[in-house]
Amino acid sequence: MPCCTKCRKAESLYYRAHSGEYLCKKCFLCSIESKAAKTISKYSMIEYGDKVAVAVSGGKDSLSLLYVLKLLFDQHPNNGNEIVAITIDEGIKGYRDESLQIVKDFCEHLRIESKVLSYQSLFGIDMDQAMIQRSSQKISSCSMCGTFRRRAIDIAAETVGANIVATAHNMDDQLQTFMINLFAGDVERIGWIYPEPVQYTQNGMKKVKPFVEISEYDIAFYALQRDIPFQSEECPYMNESIRTDLREFFNRLERDHPGIKYNAFRSMTKVSKVLRGGMSSSETKNCSRCGRVSTGDICSVCKTISIL
Ligand code: SF4
Ligand code: ZN
Repeated sequence: MPCCTKCRKAESLYYRAHSGEYLCKKCFLCSIESKAAKTISKYSMIEYGDKVAVAVSGGKDSLSLLYVLKLLFDQHPNNGNEIVAITIDEGIKGYRDESLQIVKDFCEHLRIESKVLSYQSLFGIDMDQAMIQRSSQKISSCSMCGTFRRRAIDIAAETVGANIVATAHNMDDQLQTFMINLFAGDVERIGWIYPEPVQYTQNGMKKVKPFVEISEYDIAFYALQRDIPFQSEECPYMNESIRTDLREFFNRLERDHPGIKYNAFRSMTKVSKVLRGGMSSSETKNCSRCGRVSTGDICSVCKTISIL
C-alpha cells in the first residue's frame, strides 16, 4: 500500500475509494473520531452538561459509538457530559444472549454505567412470542421490533436520567430509511431523517446520530482497528425487512460507482431538510392507553400490542 495521504509518514492500510485517500491506522482512526465530533457540532447534537444515553445493541456500530463518545467526552471533561449505555433485550433466543455479555464486558472495560431493559418487562411479551402470536403476516418482524425498541429506548433513557439518546445509525442506515419511506409513500416521515435533533417526548428528550455521515464500511473497519469486540450472530428475523435488499443494492452500486452513496446521501439530506422545514408541528396527543405522546388516539406500541 502507498504512503498515507494525510500524514505522508506511515504506510497506509486503508483505501477510501470515494475520496481517493490512502490512510495509515492513526489517520484512519482520527478521521472517524473527528468526523463524529464535527457531525455533533454541525447539527448541535450535544450541548454542555448533557447526559447521553447511548443505545448499545452489541453490534459494531453501537459499540464503536460508545467508544468514540467516551473518548470525546474524556477529551473535554469541562463540558460536563455524562454517558450511560442502554441495551434492550428483545427476547430473541440464541441471538441476544451473546451481545448482552459483550456489552456488559465492554462497559466494565470502559467504566461506563449500563442499563438493560427487556420487552418482556415493559410490554409483557418478547419477540419470540410476538413472532408466534402475530396473526397476520402484514406486520413484519422488524417493524414490530422497531416500534417496541424505540419506546424501550425512551423509557430506558428516562430511567437513567438522560436528556439525549444517541443511536449509531450510519450513512447507509439513513439511505435505507429514506428509500423505505419513499417506497411506502410516507413522504412526511422523510423530514424526520434530517440529522438535526428534535425534542420528541414529554420530557424533551432528543435523539442524535453522531455517525450519520460515516459509512457502515468505515465503522466496521474502525471497530476492527480499535479491537472493539462485537456480536457475530445475526438476528434470525432480519431477512423479512426490505432494508436487507436495499443494503445490498446500495453496496452493489457503490462497488461499481465509488462515491455514489455519498452523493445520494447529500441529496437525501437536502430533501429531508426541506421536508423537515415543512413539517407541521402537529398538536401532540396522549395515547388513551399508555398516556405517552402519540400522533393518534392510540400510540403505535399500544396498537401493536393489541394486534398481538
Ligand atoms: Fe428486531 Fe429486526 Fe433487528 Fe431482529 S433485525 S432485532 S427483528 S429490528
Ligand atoms: Zn400507548
